[in-house]
Amino acid sequence: MTAATTSAGGRVVPGRQEALDLFDQIRKLSFDGVGVSRESYGSTETACLEALVEWAGKRGIAASTDPAANVLFSLPDAGDQAPIVCGSHVDSVPQGGNYDGLAGVIAGLLCLKRLKDEGRRLPHPLWVAAMRGEESAWFGKAYMGSSAILGKLKPEDLALHSKRSGRTLAQAMASAGADVDMIAAGKPMPWVAAVRAYLELHIEQGPLMVARKWPTAIVSGIRGNIRHNAVRCIGEPGHSGAVPRWLRNDAVFAVSDLLMRLDEHWRVLLERGNDLVVTAGVMGTDPAEHAVSRIPGRVDFSFEVRSESTDTLEEFYRVMRAECDAVSRQRGVRFEFDRRIESAPATMDAGLVQVLLDTSKELGLPAERVASGAGHDAALFANAGIPSAMIFIRNENGSHNPAESMDIDDFMAGVEVLYESLPKLG
Ligand SMILES: [Zn+2]
Repeated sequence: MTAATTSAGGRVVPGRQEALDLFDQIRKLSFDGVGVSRESYGSTETACLEALVEWAGKRGIAASTDPAANVLFSLPDAGDQAPIVCGSHVDSVPQGGNYDGLAGVIAGLLCLKRLKDEGRRLPHPLWVAAMRGEESAWFGKAYMGSSAILGKLKPEDLALHSKRSGRTLAQAMASAGADVDMIAAGKPMPWVAAVRAYLELHIEQGPLMVARKWPTAIVSGIRGNIRHNAVRCIGEPGHSGAVPRWLRNDAVFAVSDLLMRLDEHWRVLLERGNDLVVTAGVMGTDPAEHAVSRIPGRVDFSFEVRSESTDTLEEFYRVMRAECDAVSRQRGVRFEFDRRIESAPATMDAGLVQVLLDTSKELGLPAERVASGAGHDAALFANAGIPSAMIFIRNENGSHNPAESMDIDDFMAGVEVLYESLPKLG
């Protein structure tokens, strides 16, 4: 094996050293002393895009900027059939990792370069979209770049302020060169109407693939969720020594009982093969009145359920409300709910997923499906009716932190799955 190659399931994959160098170059451009910081529509994001354009230009890859300031790469003589778009985002969270987003863009660029080097023609040309503004950390809104592409960025989104610079999203987009009037009018980017399919390679942001020892996997779907930011369980406060068990309306015991019941329903639904994760990430008694010797009269908590399936989300939500009623009756408490917030799951295209699974198998890689718990630009393309699919790359130490750790050989294996799948997307 030479420095310029690696093996994916025994095959030789060109471009390894170029990938390492390009990741390194972008890391240096965006290093903040701790991790990388590429603010959405900020100067570092722009500098990284310019470096990618320069890298591509030296290799005969054309680049153009759309009216939302995203960059599209393609081969000049690839034909004018409906393109397959492969993309991801260039921005990062503050003090984030180098691979979240960037890996998908570099994967696409490596495929374009290899298509050119090998003189290979595809039934549908490959375009690579280097998108801006995916992370919600800067403006409090995620998927700004892909929303702008799809004509789904609202005027109230454009009025959001950057937590760092104080500029509005509209000002930041304009300074990056975007046509804010067109975006505010909700017009999709002209190129998107022709897109035949959208593919995104991305690092996994959870621990599953490391635990399973899978270098690559194919995303089965992107989880949606139902949330309540604030649920209140109201019981009755009392002296902890003076009130017998049968006369208590203890809110902490009630919420604990509720969660244990939900945990059991969760376990059973998983056993039946459903995709489901459940979290109560915020919980507390009121510090102004709680005490060791006081029966808690109130607990505030959050509720979140995520699944690839709308049916599973709704079923679990119904179960949760029914158990709240049961706990209320049995423990003399009541539950109050704030507004229910939901986001729809995104279904990956079954045909595309099958091609990626088949290619993985041919390459000696795991033909495994995993659900994406985190959201991605691919969810927007899928929910806009564009057939979409994702390749996940194993990644240790989670994401949105500088310790993100993707092995370059895992990445190259994912690039190989992408590259070898392209001719099959007729
Ligand atoms: Zn990402």
